[in-house]
Amino acid sequence: MSKIRVLADHVANQIAAGEVVERPASVAKELVENSIDAGATRITVEIEAGGRRLLKVSDDGEGMVRDDAVLAFERHATSKIHDADDLAAIATLGFRGEALASIASVAKVELITNTEDAGPATRVTIDGGRVRNVKDAAHPRGTTIAVRDLFFNVPARRKFLRSEATETFHLTNLVTHYGLAHPEIAFTFSNNGRVVLSASPAKDLKERAYQIFGEEFLENLLTVNGGHPQVAHIGGYISAPRDRRTSRDSQYIFVNRRFVRDRLIGRALSEGYRSILPHGVYPAALLFIETPLEEVDVNVHPAKTEVRFRRAAAVADAVRESVRAALASAGYAPAEERITPPPPAESQTQTATAAVGWSAELVTSSGPAQGETMAEANEVTATLSAAASQVQPRIDFVVPPLVDEMLTPEVEVSGDEIARDIDELLHARELTAAAASETVAPPQSPAFNLPPLNSAERFAREVKPESLSANIRPLGQLDESFIIATDDEGLLLIDQHVAHERILFDKYRALEAERRTDSQQLLVPETFDLTPAQAAVFDQLAPELEPYGFDLMRLSGRTVAIKATPADLPPSEARNMLAELLETVDAEKKSAARETLRDEIAASLACHAAIKVNMPLAPEKMRWLIDRLLQTSSPTTCPHGRPVILRLRTRDILKGFHRI
Ligand code: ADP
Ligand code: MG
Repeated sequence: MSKIRVLADHVANQIAAGEVVERPASVAKELVENSIDAGATRITVEIEAGGRRLLKVSDDGEGMVRDDAVLAFERHATSKIHDADDLAAIATLGFRGEALASIASVAKVELITNTEDAGPATRVTIDGGRVRNVKDAAHPRGTTIAVRDLFFNVPARRKFLRSEATETFHLTNLVTHYGLAHPEIAFTFSNNGRVVLSASPAKDLKERAYQIFGEEFLENLLTVNGGHPQVAHIGGYISAPRDRRTSRDSQYIFVNRRFVRDRLIGRALSEGYRSILPHGVYPAALLFIETPLEEVDVNVHPAKTEVRFRRAAAVADAVRESVRAALASAGYAPAEERITPPPPAESQTQTATAAVGWSAELVTSSGPAQGETMAEANEVTATLSAAASQVQPRIDFVVPPLVDEMLTPEVEVSGDEIARDIDELLHARELTAAAASETVAPPQSPAFNLPPLNSAERFAREVKPESLSANIRPLGQLDESFIIATDDEGLLLIDQHVAHERILFDKYRALEAERRTDSQQLLVPETFDLTPAQAAVFDQLAPELEPYGFDLMRLSGRTVAIKATPADLPPSEARNMLAELLETVDAEKKSAARETLRDEIAASLACHAAIKVNMPLAPEKMRWLIDRLLQTSSPTTCPHGRPVILRLRTRDILKGFHRI
């Protein structure tokens, strides 16, 4: 007996829905794309309960006549292509003709559509793929589709839906994307009856970005304009290096105005920032890649979020070079492309080595890729290497004039005073950041030509907490980033940024637990604008931040005022920190344990308030930092799990010199 049979249409549609309809945001994507394809000038998206209960998209596009309105729900029914040849150059967002059929198979759908303002409209209702009825209704030119009770007939899928907040976050992100890709279309988005985004038709991307993200975001953006028309034109905006994100959430990438998630382009974008941004942080970007239609295959994935370029490497090159050029013209990168990676730090190191022996070798010998902290340290020097040729060579090994002096009790300064000093220094540093970084630029040509030295790298170890004694004596700084110190067992290198991070992290957790706050009122509250996606998260995050000393107020619309900040946090960092938290603590993590959220807040706060690398520290400040570090819960690891201290034991030094 034969076993194979052709599946009934409604089963086939549900299978297709598995790929097309992953979550409410994918339904919204298909509906909004249809509205754009229909030539709409106004699109309204309304959702309730994260799009589960209701997801409604209305447009003023060309609409459908009655026969088409019914046919639109058939599988493979499309007005956009006619034969296989059309697949080679697809100019519309849709073309597969399966979205409406898939959506209707897993929800209760009502469609009302009209091709003209006069005359009756058509109303079609479909539940779980079965047409319930078709009749007259009232609707101006255009189409409204309401999708209710998504996955009502597929319990297995319903279970995979995330919290309302998460689904709302994805929906908001989606509408933001299409709003950016189509400035000429008016977009309105409302969530549970509240308007979240309302953008009137804009004349260009810049104006639209202003409507969505606010003035401040725009001020910090660099314009990208490059590539080759035959391969790909690259346009849009990218963020300046100081504006950092911990995820790719703020990267909006479009290929021929289609919103895509493309690893290739994401990577090329990051490569454009090489040596300017450390690993693990991402720029914000609105990148529009325009290629001839036949250069790109959009028929790769049912949800059409992936594309395949005919000349992928050339497109990636165009992205990287355009990004680099934008950074260069703003003075962030050397103008000419450096194809080979920068030489290892060895030649620079040797000048310092000549004067201080092996200690500098310890840190820099393994080349430029030292992880985040070293990358950060390199960042300033790399960007200013052009200016460096005029700068006097200088060895960054700060030996305090009188080592003993700082250990005598008379010069002991109270911790609080020093904390204030550090704070002041931080502020002063921001003003003079450019000037300061010139002085740390490495010498261009080494004064001596020494043979390579042995590296002590293999001897340097992470330190176990139990091996730490209170007897740590700071000697100076390396690269204004690492404290060089000794203890009874040998030599220590302390990463000043992560050490301070650990101190602050413990302090914030303690304050929070004791329900005490230590905050500073700002004379003039700082305001900043939330993106629609951030706004969705903000209301739930704000109360969690209060115990740390934040006083935040939601003003009209998506503007937030910072009225007070935690005492150690420089007010200028508060905004960066909030932006970062709103991104990382996204809806998913929010519903996770509150403990985790609190740790995340404390770690972020500690990171932003902590002294940075490339910052000179006076001897008593190093002393203070070390003393406080020793009192923390875990002096040898930072809140992100990185080591704080490296040790080179006297024993290993003796071995290195072949003395034992
Ligand atoms: P596709 O977009 O791939 O063609 P869909 O299933 O999304 O497939 O839609 C099927 C057809 O229904 C479209 O080709 C279009 O003709 C029509 N249609 C869908 N939505 C709209 C709309 N908002 N306005 C006008 N026509 C629409
Ligand atoms: Mg479609």
